Amino acid sequence: MRASGAKVGVLALQGPARLHARALAELGAEPVEVRTPAHLVGVDALVIPGGESTTLSLLLDSSGVRGALEDRVADGLPVLGTCAGMIMCAAAVLGGRVDQHSLGIVDIDVRRNAFGRQRDSFEADLDVEGLPGGRFPAVFIRAPVVARVGPGVEVLAGLAEGPVLCRSGAVLVTAFHPELGGDLRLHQSFLERI
Ligand code: GLN
Repeated sequence: MRASGAKVGVLALQGPARLHARALAELGAEPVEVRTPAHLVGVDALVIPGGESTTLSLLLDSSGVRGALEDRVADGLPVLGTCAGMIMCAAAVLGGRVDQHSLGIVDIDVRRNAFGRQRDSFEADLDVEGLPGGRFPAVFIRAPVVARVGPGVEVLAGLAEGPVLCRSGAVLVTAFHPELGGDLRLHQSFLERI
């Protein structure tokens, strides 16, 4: 399917989904806010934005979205998970809460809040494997890092602390916020694989 016209859900249980929706719309996709299981029906892909993964995990349960999402993911739904969204996509979470359950969409383990207090929030220009147009301006906010990479997962960018951008098939996960830097290339790259 071409990116243009694709119906792309943006999980909107917590935090602002608006910037992702705007990026998707600018690229010709049709963004759909997802708050209930019914909102997932008919979406061609899903963005799981940043926020707080502990809260996100609880809200996935209380909203009933978790079950529907697990079904779609099992069928190969393309997912873009950013920051807390990357944590939700991971197989295992280091430094998580006991009642926090990730979805295991990508075979990676992540460490929450991996950049310590000194680097709570920062920007870095990332060298991204295979991304034309030069370095990508990445905004990190209390970001996780990838602590284990399973077979079949490509690391597309990393910092000294570890990988921060990975791809597994049609699933893309970023430790940073690609919607905040004013550069749509990663959203574009995600849409190209739908
Ligand atoms: N530190 C947050 C968490 O653990 C993620 C922060 C973010 O999404 N900007 O969920």
